[in-house]
Amino acid sequence: MNVTEIFETMEYGPAPEAAAPGLAWIKEHEPFGLFINNQWVKPANGQYIESINPATGKQLTKVATSNSADVDAAVAAARTAFETWGKTPGHVRARYMYAIARHIQKHSRLLAVLESLDNGKPIRETRDIDIPLVARHFYYYAGWAQLMESQLTNYQPVGVVGQIIPWNFPLLMLAWKIAPALAMGNTVVLKPARYTSLTALKFAEIMHEIGLPPGVVNILTGEASQVGEALVRHPDVNKIAFTGSTDVGRSIRRATAGSGKKLSLELGGKSPFIVFDDADLDSVVEGVVDAIWFNQGQVCCAGSRLLVQENIANRLIEKLRVRMEHLRIGDPLDKAVDIGAIVSPGQLKEIQRLVKQGVEEGAVMWQPSWACPTEGYFFPPTLFTNVSPATTIAQIEIFGPVLVSMTFRTPAEAVELANNTRYGLAASVWSDNINLALDVAPKLKAGSVWINCTNLFDASSGFGGYRESGFGREGGKEGLYEYVRPKWETLETPLEALHIAKGSTSSNGSGSIQDEDGESAFQDLAFGSANGYVAALPTIDRTPKMFIGGKQARPDSGYSRDIYDPQGHMIGQVGEGNRKDIRNAVEAAHAASGWAVGTTHNRAQILYYIAENLSSREDEFARRIVQQTGRPYADAVAEVQVSISRLFSYAAWADKFEGVVHRPPMRGAVLALPEAIGVMAITCPDEYPLLGFISLAAPAIAMGNTLVVVPSQQSPLSATDCYQVLETSDLPNGVVNIVTGDRDALSQVLADHDDVDAMWYFGPAEGCKHVELASASNMKRTWVNYGHPRNWLDPVQGEGEEFLRESTQIKNIWIPYGE
Ligand code: NAD
Ligand code: MN
Repeated sequence: MNVTEIFETMEYGPAPEAAAPGLAWIKEHEPFGLFINNQWVKPANGQYIESINPATGKQLTKVATSNSADVDAAVAAARTAFETWGKTPGHVRARYMYAIARHIQKHSRLLAVLESLDNGKPIRETRDIDIPLVARHFYYYAGWAQLMESQLTNYQPVGVVGQIIPWNFPLLMLAWKIAPALAMGNTVVLKPARYTSLTALKFAEIMHEIGLPPGVVNILTGEASQVGEALVRHPDVNKIAFTGSTDVGRSIRRATAGSGKKLSLELGGKSPFIVFDDADLDSVVEGVVDAIWFNQGQVCCAGSRLLVQENIANRLIEKLRVRMEHLRIGDPLDKAVDIGAIVSPGQLKEIQRLVKQGVEEGAVMWQPSWACPTEGYFFPPTLFTNVSPATTIAQIEIFGPVLVSMTFRTPAEAVELANNTRYGLAASVWSDNINLALDVAPKLKAGSVWINCTNLFDASSGFGGYRESGFGREGGKEGLYEYVRPKWETLETPLEALHIAKGSTSSNGSGSIQDEDGESAFQDLAFGSANGYVAALPTIDRTPKMFIGGKQARPDSGYSRDIYDPQGHMIGQVGEGNRKDIRNAVEAAHAASGWAVGTTHNRAQILYYIAENLSSREDEFARRIVQQTGRPYADAVAEVQVSISRLFSYAAWADKFEGVVHRPPMRGAVLALPEAIGVMAITCPDEYPLLGFISLAAPAIAMGNTLVVVPSQQSPLSATDCYQVLETSDLPNGVVNIVTGDRDALSQVLADHDDVDAMWYFGPAEGCKHVELASASNMKRTWVNYGHPRNWLDPVQGEGEEFLRESTQIKNIWIPYGE
């Protein structure tokens, strides 16, 4: 036998990692308890569920199932711990987090083995990817704990955080959740996924080992229906952070609506993997392997849709099949195995069902000739060609090792096909033409874009979705804001928030012009009523219409509504907007989407111009405020002047809220770009009829969004007076659209609208709840005030980065370099 022959026939021998240390650790700890207050506690119901090894289908051990009594105990422990932990200096928290990172490294092999045993993923991945990234995450966020006091001066921790994670990266998802939460001074109750609790329990042991104060981290294993739901509904939890499927994400959005709980959702995806004809095909093939066969394809950002330029499609598919034939499937603890087991029999069945459906839908299925192990839950790498874009397998997240491929001809077609999904988590772009790749990246609706690479993650760079892939980011500095709130927000718990909101909500029925909530807000802000009232206004009839697509349009309803001053005198009329007006306004806002790709310099110029045109009419606008609110003239002038200053602030920010370049540990860089969200709906508060409108509209347009605005219901005339200001300021048609009328009826239409990407609502608590509830339909991002007034005059509350962050979503573009 010569050397060539040896190389041709040589099979890998098995290179097993020993399971023994993992199994011994399990034996030592049976029966597993719940981790509450740094102690192992028996579950209240005394019940346990089995935990299986998916590579054998056999039971590994049993873990405790918690119920709502355990959730109560864990939340109470976290609340007590928060009293201290929330005030613990950043440097002290950094020391604990540093210790966590060190201990992860010390126990890295045990954690890797446990993860492979419990989840079925190859040891090569747990050892070289999952666990090192976990350690890196704690190191990175130890740094933010250290820097919080100097870098997030205006922020405080949120409080007790409920965290719910999936089974695909059990320890890594735990790290993504716990590290930023602790760094910012929160305490945590975490629920691992039902199938994969073991590394979370080992992590709990580490918390005990390093002497983390009791109650800071609590871990409850068990079933979603018992632990998950109880945690989501618990009144003393201040925030829910969830990673999992879009369906469950939607139900959590609905369950928390109006509660005042902060929420971040990392959901599913159907991410495109785009190959242009000038790409290096051998690299592409390795890229595809990492995109869809990494972790058996059970990856939320898996490149599950291969989009290939038509002229190279056959060549690439041929190369892929050859590569697939050489993939090795089998025992996850074998170091030479590429593909391990599917996490559970249920997940395996679901993959089988969808693959069968793909075949029935007429796509061509291809699998390698070799057979999977018969014991355990295995599924071979699978490639579909001849897939048409509207079919189930092209649209639904399969969450398995199944790739569907489609072709395109031009870059524009590639972008269209790529964005033809309700999701928006990630995308990869393959081309040796950097101009083409960097031109395409910003056009993709996805939170991460990988150029000539795929599935790269690092603590320094944020991760998260657009559209139905959820909202909020994990990783990077942006990940911190999910775990803090402004210092001026003094309310301690959502319970309290709800109580106060209830006390101040109007009870005189909907459709009423008088809004008690708005009035009480005024009293809070210490405005007098009628003193200084300027009564003598010229009585010119001005009946504002809607402002849609740059034109003043009559309301579709043909009705007007009367506007009164605080004494009950009618001072004007505005159009009664309806569903049709909103539809037209949303359409106009969509048509103006070019605003987002224009230069930031141009946007700044237009904001300055609006300010200039407003200032030339200062007296008229001040009188209008007096007329509507009865506030003293001097106060009203101040409101106009602050509005002008605010426009200047956002003109300034327009070309300065720029994003950063991350340097993860690789050769290359990550561009973190804040992008416009798209079409935003804004419901303005009743307090400060002009300033409220300007404070919300200006940051949103500065960042490139186009708007549908519902002005103050009670005092809309300041906003409608702005039509002329906007018309004379070179603002392109459709960037700002204004629909007057019943606040809550119009807001409901906007919140339900599928083509609205984000919604802000500043009004009564009840309305906030409706907006959050309805937003779940297309997972639009929301920002509401839960019925609490802001002091809009105060720049800390009324302007700044909070507004800019709510106006943008960050896209991370990964650009490796070097040959
Ligand atoms: P899942 O939504 O079924 O479960 C996720 C977690 O939520 C589990 O811990 C589960 O017990 C819990 N849960 C389920 N129903 C609940 C409820 N009603 N209330 C509270 N908690 C509940 O998802 P899964 O099958 O475990 O994970 C796969 C999904 O997760 C995929 O859709 C995948 O795309 C997504 N995922 C997303 C990301 C991301 O960062 N975007 C990362 C990993 C996985
Ligand atoms: Mn398991």
